[in-house]
Amino acid sequence: MSVLVVGSVNVDITVRASAIPAPGETVLGPAAQVSPGGKGANQAVAAGLAGAPTALCGAVGADAFQEVALRGLRRAGVALSDLHRLAEATGLALITVDPHGENAITVASGANAAVGPDHLPSTLAGISHLLLQQELPEAVTLAAAQQGRAARVRVVLNAAPARVHADLLPLVHHLVVNEHELEAMAGPGEHAAQAARLLARGPEVVTVTLGARGHLTVTGSQTLTFPALAVPVVDTTGAGDTFCGVMTARLALGEPLDRALRAAGVAAALTCTRPGAQDAMPDWAEVQAHLA
Ligand code: ATP
Repeated sequence: MSVLVVGSVNVDITVRASAIPAPGETVLGPAAQVSPGGKGANQAVAAGLAGAPTALCGAVGADAFQEVALRGLRRAGVALSDLHRLAEATGLALITVDPHGENAITVASGANAAVGPDHLPSTLAGISHLLLQQELPEAVTLAAAQQGRAARVRVVLNAAPARVHADLLPLVHHLVVNEHELEAMAGPGEHAAQAARLLARGPEVVTVTLGARGHLTVTGSQTLTFPALAVPVVDTTGAGDTFCGVMTARLALGEPLDRALRAAGVAAALTCTRPGAQDAMPDWAEVQAHLA
């Protein structure tokens, strides 16, 4: 069965500069890198590359940036019939990276902020898994989750950034958070106990990604822990998005939870071995080669 991602689409403009500018300051760097991004688009690309029929619902502007924004989605075969072209500009993330790898990011939400519940598809026929993040207006994410529940579709939420509407968690089957989001949502404590507190608020499954330490998943009956694949790390951008996209794709293809989680962790680690987000994501053959 197939995956519908409802989420953001951006173009990332990254400059590696001598420093992050202070107010009023100008800093210089070499050429900017212009690449497709946005959590929704990144996760849809990862899901498509992992082999599941995948569609993306969201919006870009009718401007020149849309071509960059859609490049990776097209390559991954993501269906774009619910991708809207709005009067607002394509979302842009302006990223300055200093020589220590520290970054400062300014996001112009543009068309993403103009997406409304009316832009959701009229039917979820053929969709088994809905994958949501929190970069679109809250009303859209909430309406999508409600529509998913009503249509008996599995609702997966990557709660990034970490602010969850009180009505959203009870609609979610599978929640994915990183350590910071876990702490923000569940308070301090040990990971499994924190995740169990979130289980009590609605989801059947809570997955916590732990960067280089791998990931942990708690259900009502079991705790699954996986170490990270040891890889030469070049750039961890997009690791979390790869994890969410691949996990959801493999679940939609009918794999059991433990195998889908293992594949997601391996794919996310492989994304860390190359620069960029979408451009760094592995195809399924590469993931499979590391699963043997
Ligand atoms: P990001 O914001 O960088 O995309 P995130 O904070 O959402 O990531 P992380 O927990 O950092 O998510 O990473 C997601 C998954 O990617 C991890 O659970 C792990 O499987 C893999 N991963 C991340 N960093 C590494 C690493 N250094 N080595 C191997 N695997 C990694």
